[in-house]
Amino acid sequence: MQLDTFELKLPLAHPFTISRGTITEQSSLIVRLQADGISGWGEVTQNRYYDRTIESLKAAIELARPLLPQMMSEHPADMWPTLMETLGGDTFAVSALDMAAHDWHARKAGVPTWKYWGLTWNEVPQSSFTIAIDSIEKMLEKLNEQPNWPIYKIKLGTSNDIEIVRSLREATRAKFRVDANCAWTVDQTIKLSDELKELKVEFIEQPLPREAPEADHWRLHDGTALPIIADESCQTEEDVDKCHGLFHGINVKVCKCGGLTPAFRMLKRARELGMQTMVGCMVESSIAISAAAQLLPLLDYADLDGSALLASDPTKGVVVTNGQIQLSSELGHGASLPGCDSKPQAP
Ligand SMILES: [Mg+2]
Repeated sequence: MQLDTFELKLPLAHPFTISRGTITEQSSLIVRLQADGISGWGEVTQNRYYDRTIESLKAAIELARPLLPQMMSEHPADMWPTLMETLGGDTFAVSALDMAAHDWHARKAGVPTWKYWGLTWNEVPQSSFTIAIDSIEKMLEKLNEQPNWPIYKIKLGTSNDIEIVRSLREATRAKFRVDANCAWTVDQTIKLSDELKELKVEFIEQPLPREAPEADHWRLHDGTALPIIADESCQTEEDVDKCHGLFHGINVKVCKCGGLTPAFRMLKRARELGMQTMVGCMVESSIAISAAAQLLPLLDYADLDGSALLASDPTKGVVVTNGQIQLSSELGHGASLPGCDSKPQAP
């Protein structure tokens, strides 16, 4: 089995601001596993908040080279603990390899990845479109540029959060969800939850910091008018049980938890616990979005607009248009990076 990586600079359609900072371009690392004439694709993006650079990710992924023969013969879920150990627990780097391994094995088995897991594709949720923090005028502009999405996820954590939601609400009757990215306190969230409910917001994602005391989460869980979904507080498999009783649901990010293997298990566990399930994404190409889309049959909510936020996407795969997620006709995740066959970048 051959392993290649390709570095991409993905330009964003607009600068993307959340409560922690702004990006205008996303650095992404594409991973390709090749054997028997089949290519399996994975992706991971640079992330300053989680201290991952393209260099650190590449270096970690290189450690997997001795495992390639084993990755070809073993199911990705069986291979996952070995990958985690070999890559020093770097969930971001492991996720790209686990994604590519799933893609390769599903293609080899002649099925899409969701079918490789034995899932049934019935009714799956539509994706939201994210409106990042900006002046109200600019946020309205972003909404008006993408007017046909059924759901918008609004990033908050500013000094005028209610004013933002109220202004956007005047412009559309679509569903709203809000994400405060850890920027609020308990009392603030409880108060805002009443106002946001009146503005027809469906839920609040991660209002409190991950480090907030458990007692704060309890108080919020019991006092809020809207469901609270964990994101920063639910990064790995162990976090799911910890979030039970503190949050109403979890938002799983494939790169944070370490790939499709743990993401699949986290969503199953959350459903066993009676929690709502969601999969989110980074600003990333259609490769990572297509991989995450395989989890749709396990979801109540989807936030898979990462490639829709790009000015241009050199990859192809699942297409997300106005919330509708159209699978590709290809096997596996159905995604690839065209035109790179002859020029893998040197490690
Ligand atoms: Mg979030």
